[in-house]
Amino acid sequence: MKKAKADLIVRNAAEIVTCAGGTEHPRRGREMADIGLIRDGAVAARDGVILAVGRTDDVLEQVEIGEDTKVIEAKGRVVLPGLVDPHTHVIFAGSREHELEMRLNGMSYLEILARGGGILDTVRATREAGLEELIAAAGKYLAEMLVQGTTTAEAKSGYGLSTEEEVKMLEAVRELNRLQPVELVPTFLGAHAIPAEYRENPEGYVDLVVEEMLPVIARQGLAEFCDVFCEEGVFSVEQTRRILVRARELGLKLKVHADEMASLGGAELASELGATSADHLMAVSEKGIYDLARADTVAVLLPATTFCLMGQKYAPARRMIEQGVAVALASDFNPGSSPVNSLQVVMGIACRQLKMKPAEVITAVTINAAHAIGRAAEVGSLEAGKRADMVIFDAPNHLYLMYRFGTNLAETVIKNGQVVIGG
Ligand SMILES: [Zn+2]
Repeated sequence: MKKAKADLIVRNAAEIVTCAGGTEHPRRGREMADIGLIRDGAVAARDGVILAVGRTDDVLEQVEIGEDTKVIEAKGRVVLPGLVDPHTHVIFAGSREHELEMRLNGMSYLEILARGGGILDTVRATREAGLEELIAAAGKYLAEMLVQGTTTAEAKSGYGLSTEEEVKMLEAVRELNRLQPVELVPTFLGAHAIPAEYRENPEGYVDLVVEEMLPVIARQGLAEFCDVFCEEGVFSVEQTRRILVRARELGLKLKVHADEMASLGGAELASELGATSADHLMAVSEKGIYDLARADTVAVLLPATTFCLMGQKYAPARRMIEQGVAVALASDFNPGSSPVNSLQVVMGIACRQLKMKPAEVITAVTINAAHAIGRAAEVGSLEAGKRADMVIFDAPNHLYLMYRFGTNLAETVIKNGQVVIGG
């Protein structure tokens, strides 16, 4: 039989962490510890698609290496699927470093918001920025993320809060998909905050989202997902339901910022509506956990946000995993509550604060994260037929990634079979 010719081969890796076998359904509960580890492993690819994964000897038997094959020696290193960040607000203008002191003086996130600061500060700056300015700012952050191993990410709107400005943010996402290697999955988050001009008429703003914004976004094909910030003082469960039901009718998939500060029933609603993910969940109820464990909804936890808000109460990740919930992790990168865009940092916090085991953490930033943004058929694991997205870490084994905290260990980043960092 003629062997397939590889144009890329990564070989002799101390460990290949494949995360294979979870493409159909996200890994739940105990399955999250299964990361498909191969020692002395190799990955071969052609035209951006994986041909073979296995022990180096076996892979070399299956594929042909030519003079033009790029060969990367990964001796003493760990190879993971390209990391997937399934919850980011990477499109924004300005920054909010002054809020750090406000928080240190005891003000809460919702108090800052009630004073017209917080998200609304970023809304002002984002509305003032032109499309080019937004693209340039986000391009810089995405380059930082890529260097640290993120090859696919979700990107939300939600700092425009008018039809025109929300469209502008999603156009920035579309342009960035043409301009740089991190693949972005667009989410419409018009219901992120009540804009100042609707402060006295929040129901009028929900009408605008449902009757004007959603149809425009859907018609222009600018978003795959619709998300709502379901929270006390922001959008109620009933308003969230109204927006998401309309979004589903228009063909969008659903996400919910659920039970972050107050236990409102966001997780229950997400499960009931068949949302792809329910995110945050620091205040999730026992019933919410029960419902998530029985739905296809992925719980996306954002521990860097809790850390940055100096919260004492992290999402009950262990309880969720014990109950059979599929957990993913994300950075929640945004200018207020999580100016952190390194998934490696999130992984370190997840072990120490969520008490997740290293293997569970890896599942949560690869295959389960891919499920949380509808990309599990293409990315999130190293398996024949999937895209050749991978990261070679300067680490002797996968445990070392979470043990070393705060240093970027990503050495070589490969997107669609192309070496985009290092090499
Ligand atoms: Zn968020």
